Amino acid sequence: MESFHALIAGGRLSAREFRLEFNRVIETISAELQRDPVSRHLGDPWLWPELTEIYRHLTDLLERRRAVPKCFRTEVYTEKTLYSKDKLLFGQIDAFFINPEGIELVDYKSGSMMDGDLPKEDYANQLYFYAYLIYENYGIYPRSLTLIGKNSDSLCLDGSMERSKEIANDMRMVLSKYNDQINSALPIEHFSSPSSNNCIFCDAKPVCSAFWGALSEIELPSWSHAVIGVQAIPMIRSRLGGVTVELEVEESSLRTSRVRITRVFEGRYPDLQDRVGQRLLLTNIRQVLPSNPSLAEVTERSLILTMESGF
Ligand code: SF4
Repeated sequence: MESFHALIAGGRLSAREFRLEFNRVIETISAELQRDPVSRHLGDPWLWPELTEIYRHLTDLLERRRAVPKCFRTEVYTEKTLYSKDKLLFGQIDAFFINPEGIELVDYKSGSMMDGDLPKEDYANQLYFYAYLIYENYGIYPRSLTLIGKNSDSLCLDGSMERSKEIANDMRMVLSKYNDQINSALPIEHFSSPSSNNCIFCDAKPVCSAFWGALSEIELPSWSHAVIGVQAIPMIRSRLGGVTVELEVEESSLRTSRVRITRVFEGRYPDLQDRVGQRLLLTNIRQVLPSNPSLAEVTERSLILTMESGF
């Protein structure tokens, strides 16, 4: 019966095949019932009054499967990592759907997808690159490339194998350039490229002198500020258990000479001591008020480190 259901779900049975398969299943059930003394009282399935109803129900099901066969044959892939054939490039694709008509590629975006009248170039390039990875892995260029925004707005881009290949080749050239430089005698700082985009989510910030050196030039979002400073006064404990730390600023993306940082929960930073004069480094702190860079708070992503010496 299970294999019969699978055939129906596939939607590919002809009317004759369906009848033959139905008869075969009922014959099998009938023989099994006759063999089993416990089930024999159920009688002959060919005489069951429900048999017609079962038959109709299954033919209905088959008709419905036939009417919408595509959705039963679509393969869905989400957050799938694909590599180029040479294994030099890879990407994690939000979603793509493979069906008999081709491959539909989708990338989800949380922010605005447009830059004036055009799709944002970075978003478009990313989608074209994913299309390249799909082509490398499945031998088919996606038939649709779609960006989907926060409110389910969608933006379809024209497919272009040429552009996809060009982006992939540019990436290979950049990679090769960096590999050549790494093999040269250049100091490691030569490779850093601090910018708001590059550094926001980088966990190397605490040890990256290039980042701290560039702080006066790069703009960070209000929830991702960084500071190095000297503890100015003893920490202040609030009734709710949080601690406030006040620092004389040495380096910071907050444009201020003194900053008060609240919501430091000591349980989360067990090594943090209360020592006036110590140098502390904090990343991913949030500016509380847009108009006041002297007041910030710790977030879940904040790091607090004690520094013994400078960069
Ligand atoms: S913090 Fe340093 S290593 Fe990280 S992205 Fe910025 S410049 Fe590069």
